[in-house]
This record gives sequence, C-alpha cells and structure tokens, in this order.
Amino acid sequence: MITKKCLWDDTHEFEVKDGEEYKVLCPKCYYNIYINTYGERYVWYDFIRNINLFKKLHALSELIDDNSDFNVNYDFINKQIQSVEKKCRMCGKTFHTGKDEDFRYLCKACYKKFYLPLKDYFSVKEIEVILTTIKNDGGDMVAALNTFLQNNKEKLNQH
Ligand SMILES: [Zn+2]
Ligand SMILES: [Zn+2]
Repeated sequence: MITKKCLWDDTHEFEVKDGEEYKVLCPKCYYNIYINTYGERYVWYDFIRNINLFKKLHALSELIDDNSDFNVNYDFINKQIQSVEKKCRMCGKTFHTGKDEDFRYLCKACYKKFYLPLKDYFSVKEIEVILTTIKNDGGDMVAALNTFLQNNKEKLNQH
C-alpha cells in the first residue's frame, strides 16, 4: 500500500495498491467530483489536464445564486475550459473542439483517418481502446489500422 495525496484536495490522503500509482483522486472525489459532477461532459483526460480550472469552477458554483458577479466569473471560466487546447492523441498536434463531441481526443484529420473507418462497427469506448493500442504499438499507425480492419473483416461484414 502506498499513501497518496488527492489531486483535487491535498488534505485528502488515500491508499493505493501496487500498480495503482496512476490513481490521482481519492475514491470520494473520483465519484463525487468527477463521475457525478463533470464526468458526463468531460473526458477524464481533459478533466485532469485542466483540474485547476475545474477547481475554480467548482468553488464558484458553490457560491452562485443570483449574484451576477459570480455568474460572470463562472461563465468566463466555463468558456476557458471549453475552448481549451487539446493534444491529439494520435498525432500530437494541438487543436480545439466543441464540448459535446465524444471523440474529442482526436484532431479533425485524425478523426477522419482513424475514427471514421471504425465508427459504424464499434462503440465509442471500443474505438478508444483500438486507437490507443495502435498508438502504443508505435510504428505506422495507418498501416496498423488497415491491418486491424483486415483482421476484423468478418465482424465488419456482419453489419
Ligand atoms: Zn479527494
Ligand atoms: Zn491528430
């Protein structure tokens, strides 16, 4: 067991098992803050990357009533989060996207190249796993995708 400090609130300490060192939020914050509050609208990767903005947003959301000063700040930070730069997970270029797109970890070019060929056959989650595998294998990603499509022809033809 290793004791870690929660990235959301460093007064929270929590224990992780060997091999779970990647966990950055205490279980309580993971469920209450990420899953229940922001998880529906933001992918984990973006949430962690912009966690300081989310902390500000969260603090303001607790103060908000009809006080217009807070509302203006709240909108401002919300806009910052939404227009924040992201790094494409396939090619590494930075890009901007709208907030309701579930493939937000890809730039437009990689979306066309890697996501579209899989879109009709696999779920959003499956595609993320497939692309992450291709990326982690290194080498020519387009060739790897084509090989994957070849190997899964049967599944693709069933649709
Ligand atoms: Zn916590
Ligand atoms: Zn890209």
